[in-house]
Amino acid sequence: MGKVWFVGAGPGDPELLTVKAVRLLEQAGAVLYAGSLVDVAATRYAHPGCVLCDSKDMTLDRIVSWLVEQAQQHDTVVRLQTGDPGLYGALVEMTRPLDQAGVSWAVVPGVSSAMAAAAAAGETLTLPEITQTVIFTRVAGRTPMPSGEALEELARHHTTLCIFLSITLLKELRRALLAAGWSDDATILVVQKASWGEEKIVRGPLHQIRELCLQQKITSQAMIIASPALGARTWQEIPYSKLYDPGFTHRFRKAELPEKFHE
Ligand code: SAH
Repeated sequence: MGKVWFVGAGPGDPELLTVKAVRLLEQAGAVLYAGSLVDVAATRYAHPGCVLCDSKDMTLDRIVSWLVEQAQQHDTVVRLQTGDPGLYGALVEMTRPLDQAGVSWAVVPGVSSAMAAAAAAGETLTLPEITQTVIFTRVAGRTPMPSGEALEELARHHTTLCIFLSITLLKELRRALLAAGWSDDATILVVQKASWGEEKIVRGPLHQIRELCLQQKITSQAMIIASPALGARTWQEIPYSKLYDPGFTHRFRKAELPEKFHE
């Protein structure tokens, strides 16, 4: 019996696969990949004899039985997923039946599209004294949100919000952010197909972002970021990180100046 690897493929650019993901793809006897976002990575690195299959038309049951069947025939079976497998990846829904079938499995993390979107736009998700917390979430759609996790409630913290799976729900997003006290002029960032050659980056005020996205025909595969740190690179002044402060001593560097000098 072989082993099933749940491998994060990153956001789309095959160069954002980890070294481990590439090694597993090269040695895999079978690869099941999740739709169009990561097919390039799968086909680029899998060996010519590898069984390649797209899961886009498969139900969860079918996916699990495919993985079990392939693990009976190959040492290494890869389930390739976009971004990181632990985020909106139906991971436990697949691993629990594998446990029941006695198939061993492991997870290889990947670069999430939240990181890729921030990188594409040249933004930081945290900034000292502005926001030190990132919330990964979504707007309630067909999947309801657990109690206490409605966007309106999470947004009250005024931290960075990376919002997955919600590009068709920008009206609801605006309503939730306004109810949480965000300004209608707050900048919102949308990145479609981050790290793909054809990526689109849209920035605009909360009250306009839906219209701007519709104009750009962005209706799927997009990350929405709301953050008080957006656009910091163009601010006149920013609070600086203590880590690089000449007056700050830490494990790897002694202060050049006494710390109180900077207070
Ligand atoms: N596990 C994935 C998320 C899967 S859910 C991850 O860690 O990124 C699918 C959602 O992820 C999409 O609706 C979109 O919001 C986001 N997404 C995935 N790939 C993306 C990309 N290349 N650019 C922008 N958003 C992306």
